[in-house]
Amino acid sequence: MKPVEWHTCACSRKRAFADRHAAEKALGKAQAKRDRHAERHGVRRGIAREHRVYRCDHDRYHLTKQSRRTYHGAPA
Ligand SMILES: [Zn+2]
Repeated sequence: MKPVEWHTCACSRKRAFADRHAAEKALGKAQAKRDRHAERHGVRRGIAREHRVYRCDHDRYHLTKQSRRTYHGAPA
């Protein structure tokens, strides 16, 4: 399978995808990898799905993950 193409973006040094489809493809791969990891280590599945796709000001798509720590707003 051809790897998903990506570039960096002006807004950050994150991976940037030209369209949502490409970003979601990469997202699915990342999630599958995490699921396999979770299974091997006996971690509950589902909770690891924190990745999202969002469109930035430069009309590119990025992947982001929201950690549970950040989500609950715990002090750094
Ligand atoms: Zn961007």
